[in-house]
Amino acid sequence: MGSAVGARGAEREQKRAKTHGEEDDATAMSIDEQNKENVSANVSASDVRATMGNYYRNFYPAEALFKWLSHGNDERHAKADKTYAGKREFCFVLDKENGDGEIFCRYQCFEDAGRFAREVRSKNPARIEFGPVMNAKPAHRHSVKLHSVERELVFDIDMTDYDDVRTCCKDAQICGKCWPLMTIAIKILDAGLRRDFGFKHLLWVYSGRRGVHCWVSDERARKLSDEARAAVAEYFAVVKGQGKSRRVYSINPMHPSVKRAYDDVLKKYWIETYLPEQRILENNAKLDQVLDLLEDQELKDELVDEFNGSKMSSVERWRVIEERVMQARQPKQGVKRNYTLDFALEKIIFWHIYPRVDIEVSKHMNHLLKGPFCVHPKTGRVCVPMDPAKAEFFDPAAVPTVIDLDNGNKTLDEAMRTFNETFWNAAEAENKERLTSLTRAAKAANATGMDF
Ligand SMILES: [Zn+2]
Repeated sequence: MGSAVGARGAEREQKRAKTHGEEDDATAMSIDEQNKENVSANVSASDVRATMGNYYRNFYPAEALFKWLSHGNDERHAKADKTYAGKREFCFVLDKENGDGEIFCRYQCFEDAGRFAREVRSKNPARIEFGPVMNAKPAHRHSVKLHSVERELVFDIDMTDYDDVRTCCKDAQICGKCWPLMTIAIKILDAGLRRDFGFKHLLWVYSGRRGVHCWVSDERARKLSDEARAAVAEYFAVVKGQGKSRRVYSINPMHPSVKRAYDDVLKKYWIETYLPEQRILENNAKLDQVLDLLEDQELKDELVDEFNGSKMSSVERWRVIEERVMQARQPKQGVKRNYTLDFALEKIIFWHIYPRVDIEVSKHMNHLLKGPFCVHPKTGRVCVPMDPAKAEFFDPAAVPTVIDLDNGNKTLDEAMRTFNETFWNAAEAENKERLTSLTRAAKAANATGMDF
């Protein structure tokens, strides 16, 4: 063993002697349950269910949703594909009569928004899922061999995938302390999809309880094959695996998009939000998890001793870890340099807070996904659109429940404004432009006798 390591060992012994006998209160510093603002509304599932009929009659924006899913093809435009809208698969999820379980009514399809709206009101489904546009009407599945032709590229991020990095909640619970993990995911995915893939029409939606969905609606995205969808989803899979086998990829050296995520979002959220809110470095098990990622037992032991009995906050502890890692990176005579420390700090941050995308949902064109403006059966909250540019201001606890709407205490005005202003207005303008350019091309073809 080299002399420098020996010196580090001796220093550690001194610290151990110094802290020996001090009260180990690190584990006692768990998040104060009293301060937890859980977003579950005080509603019962039966109240939610009883209000759904009224919700579908008075609030559910069936026309706007159908118009979006038609992507301009419901227009009276000569170049609109009049058969397009009717080839989309809808799935109505109905409650079983005895209240025990669900019935999936797949392959529903509608000629126009009016028929869709009427069917929603008459069936009063627990939720409505949107599937792909097929080669023929899904209802004709017994006479035609159906296959998916196109579909929005979708992303699903669920807070339960973050259970090992949350100290405040677990499973379906969420609160103001862990919700920023979703904000981080939205910011990173939104920037990546727009800047690296050039997509423009992204609809972000709160899933009603513990996660978010994104519907990329650009024509180019809708036409991606399953293989291409998998490739886009994999692009964001910088962190893979669960628990101890979770690994961080593409950070040594950092891919430009990964670096942007780190510089623009992760670094700031780690220090300003994640560490102060989750206080993981004051929790022995979580601290152990973090220090293991250094892959340097010597350094880990040193830090464990330093924090033993310390009253330092998680942010203060992180500053110490940073400092020790920087010191350990310095070449020392006679000491074998641990190169894994070069990216250890970044790795810890990515490991904890980089978006955890459910790749399986994105990969398959025919995957059914709960549509926007559905109602979560447990929370009663409406799956409202979100403005990605203001993701940090989104408060799940403020999202209207069907009971709020029913009582007249809240409206969907803001949700509709977000839908239109952050997504639909631009998408609709592009649909019109596309149809007009098809007409122009056809006219030019007529004039020149060419077949376009
Ligand atoms: Zn929480």
